[in-house]
Amino acid sequence: MKDLNFKNKKVLVRVDFNVPLDDKYKITDDTRIRRALPTIKHILKAGGTVILMSHLGRPGKKKLPDGSIDKQKFTLQHLQGHLKKKLRTKVHFCDECGGKNAAAMAEKTKPGEVLLLENTRFYPGETKGDKAFAKSIAALGDMYINDAFGTAHREHASTATIAQFFKKSERGFGCLMQAEIENANKVLHNPARPLTAIVGGAKVSDKILLLEKLIDFSDNIIIGGGMAYTFLKAKGGNIGNSLVEDDKLKLALRLLKKAEKKNTKIYLPKDSVIADQFSEKAKKETKYSMRIRKGWMGLDIGPIARKDFSKVIESSKTILWNGPMGVFEMKPFANGTKAIAKSVAKATKKGAFSLVGGGDSVAAVNQLGLADEVSYVSTGGGAMLEFLEGKELPGIKAIGM
Ligand code: AMP
Repeated sequence: MKDLNFKNKKVLVRVDFNVPLDDKYKITDDTRIRRALPTIKHILKAGGTVILMSHLGRPGKKKLPDGSIDKQKFTLQHLQGHLKKKLRTKVHFCDECGGKNAAAMAEKTKPGEVLLLENTRFYPGETKGDKAFAKSIAALGDMYINDAFGTAHREHASTATIAQFFKKSERGFGCLMQAEIENANKVLHNPARPLTAIVGGAKVSDKILLLEKLIDFSDNIIIGGGMAYTFLKAKGGNIGNSLVEDDKLKLALRLLKKAEKKNTKIYLPKDSVIADQFSEKAKKETKYSMRIRKGWMGLDIGPIARKDFSKVIESSKTILWNGPMGVFEMKPFANGTKAIAKSVAKATKKGAFSLVGGGDSVAAVNQLGLADEVSYVSTGGGAMLEFLEGKELPGIKAIGM
């Protein structure tokens, strides 16, 4: 993007403004907006007009009882005031994405000003990657910048299809997209060693490809969260009512064997904080993870595991973290995730490179106020996972073609 000339150009910028809103449509976390500001400001300063497009929520999946789109809930207009404050310039809103109205408004918007288009997902053509829909948006601008890393793994009209309507000299990545790719590449290519990957969250099945890839290039893999219990059961442990995917037991054993062969050390939680029900009010105890009795479930890693994991993390030079160590949304089961976040921050202070990616681990780092103490916090959950798995992301491919 930095090599392109934006002077007097209408620049279509695909951002990921899929921010959480409360029931009064107030933004509760504007991280995604803040992270896109450098790109927008750069274009405005260079004398361009910025035409913003984004999706917000899943309006196609959450329709009104009569089958129509809930425009009041999902309109991008909720973001207009906040953007004005952040950009200190005129931010016009158009209740269309492509089309005559939008074209007229794009024409009128002056250099240094912003036009915010309506939710791309109000149009069924968006998620289908429809060419005609992409063309109707492309008609609004002279240039196209993709800064929506969070949706780069989707082959949608505004994230991928649209790029073909611009010459190579008229399209590029925004600053956020560039930073995401550069930081992920620091883990993938020639990382400082030892490299430790921390993987948590609910299910093994969501992270099979990631684990396969991690075994190939990591020195250590720490497995926590609900997914650890499938591995523990596969190793013959009694895990009580803990989360388990019984159809993944063989796979878990195969992954453990593969890791042994590749000399990648896998760390599972030796102990767990167990509960007699899935509730904040549950009775809790600390027990060895392989010896959880009937009716009880592991909802967090225990103190021994916290210590073991922290030791590995704090002696690492590159750290990748995806997924919480327990049900951190419930206070009694948040200590494991907190301890890991603190260790990652500590290792970073000692000079390690740390990348935190994936919705819930990012939320944990933010909650603890440690976002500035790790090297990079990714804005992409699924996109970051797929990038690390080695997949080519459609949003990235389309710009380079
Ligand atoms: P993911 O989206 O796969 O990263 O999973 C995140 C979710 O996993 C969070 O909502 C956590 O509450 C949940 N989780 C983490 N540890 C456990 C556990 N031991 N048992 C059940 N759910 C868990």
